[in-house]
Amino acid sequence: MQNTEKIWQLVDARKDAYEALSDRVWEIPEICYTEYKSVAEHRAMLEEEGFRITENLAGIPTAIMGEAGEGGPVIAILGEYDALPGLSQVAGIAEPKEVVPGGHGHGCGHNMLGSAALLAATAVKNHLAAQGIKGRVRYYGCPAEEGGAAKVFMVRAGLFEDVDVAITWHPAAINRVDDAMSLANTRIDFTFKGRASHAAAAPHLGRSALDAVELMNVGVNYMREHMPSDARIHYAMLDAGGVAPNVVQATATVRYAVRARDLPGMRPLIERVKKVAQGAALMTETSVSEKVVSAVSNLLANTPLEQAMQRQLDRLGAPPFDAADRKYAAEIQATLTPEDIASAYARAGMAGRKDSPLCDFIVPYGTKGAPMMGSTDVGDVSWVVPTVQARIATHAIGTPGHSWQITAQGKSGQAKKGMVHAAKVMAGVAVDALADPALIARAKADHKARTEVTPYDCPLPVDVKPPIQPRSNAA
Ligand SMILES: [Zn+2]
Repeated sequence: MQNTEKIWQLVDARKDAYEALSDRVWEIPEICYTEYKSVAEHRAMLEEEGFRITENLAGIPTAIMGEAGEGGPVIAILGEYDALPGLSQVAGIAEPKEVVPGGHGHGCGHNMLGSAALLAATAVKNHLAAQGIKGRVRYYGCPAEEGGAAKVFMVRAGLFEDVDVAITWHPAAINRVDDAMSLANTRIDFTFKGRASHAAAAPHLGRSALDAVELMNVGVNYMREHMPSDARIHYAMLDAGGVAPNVVQATATVRYAVRARDLPGMRPLIERVKKVAQGAALMTETSVSEKVVSAVSNLLANTPLEQAMQRQLDRLGAPPFDAADRKYAAEIQATLTPEDIASAYARAGMAGRKDSPLCDFIVPYGTKGAPMMGSTDVGDVSWVVPTVQARIATHAIGTPGHSWQITAQGKSGQAKKGMVHAAKVMAGVAVDALADPALIARAKADHKARTEVTPYDCPLPVDVKPPIQPRSNAA
């Protein structure tokens, strides 16, 4: 059933401009705090639509907010537009082929994420004006979701304090209300300092920072047996101390990501990893310092908002994919393994199902799937505001996250139909909330019950600032 509701018609009335916005952002992939051109595109659109614009949110030059309407409740619709490094890919084909060798690409579909969120906010703005309803809608343009946790800085700066409900979505393979399963996550850089020396002539005078990193990794790997099974720890060597094996490496840095089901579960794990680092320093007579790079909280569910979103999804049905979309999706699926495809169904709790290459169904509410084990900075917003997210199909079932296949499908028919559909779902929930103070009250009561026992405690240490990049660094 399509467009039986006025709000969905308002989405369709403006969709062409937002499909074009999504394509333009796809063309200028910018990563982690360098999204200057992308935010300029979103700013121009906010201006054209007549939103009241606030720039430089939380001191971040690539974060922006547009507001419309007067008085009443405040509905926030969250968008993103950051890309990923190394996922440059030609659009519309089904084989890996970079546009720019080693370049960035929209391998998580955030070109659609931001455009659909802004389209939804525009439709709600036009609805408020047409109906003369008291209420405000805000579009939050959030940068650096990938590795930058910008929303956590935005939450810490109090930007959501007067918001009643937050709504967002993520491009996906399966249509569903997000199950609010994500992990709290902290990234910490451990830098070891030792003493350089000639590795052959005076090895006894050297103290190797690289040895310390290796011993730390061994220690953490032994720790894995003794942690909760849904916790995750991974590491990357940022600085191995140099390329000359005949010099004892005097400095070395390893970045750790520590993830757990929630903040109370994550904090003790971080303390244990720090102890392992200190142990490695003790063993090697080096010193170690640590610096938190970013941190996000787990997602908090909100039953009344999820049910409101499910009602929108059930009424709308699946995105109206056509034969050309299915044909391209089938070509993409030919690049995947059967396991990729089966695990996409299993994650959504729909194991054993086999459909067309694009999702033609809506996952029933409350279906238990294998939990998504990633992290998102939407988590922190969900701790301070009742929040709900949709997952709408924009790519072939089985397409891995952060892949060339997502970049390739980023301007396709399925991407555009999925993003417009997402805008309808989000705008529909916003209109329901604006029309029904009881829904907002129930969402707030649910949120209060969930945060009463463990109140929000920002996982970012107070001295950590957003790692803003100067405009000149933006490629
Ligand atoms: Zn993403």
